[in-house]
Amino acid sequence: MKTSRKEAEGSPGAGITPSPPLAYRLCPHCARAVPIASSELYCVNDGTWLLEACLQCGAPITSPYARFCTRCGTALTHPVVSSPPHG
Ligand SMILES: [Zn+2]
Ligand SMILES: [Zn+2]
Repeated sequence: MKTSRKEAEGSPGAGITPSPPLAYRLCPHCARAVPIASSELYCVNDGTWLLEACLQCGAPITSPYARFCTRCGTALTHPVVSSPPHG
């Protein structure tokens, strides 16, 4: 008699789960957000300096979709003032 055993291997990988970042940097130009854990200081799209916190009250940006400060309501993104039209 032969007895064959099959051992099902567990799902490989997926062992380390990094803790989610607590704050984000936000591009005031295109509203692109990057985790504050990232070393990005300037937007990769337009090279604009990324906001690390509200310029008005200094509150951290805790949401990657933030457009306004949750503490004082100041707009975190500025409207594009001078943008030459692309013809
Ligand atoms: Zn940008
Ligand atoms: Zn604020």
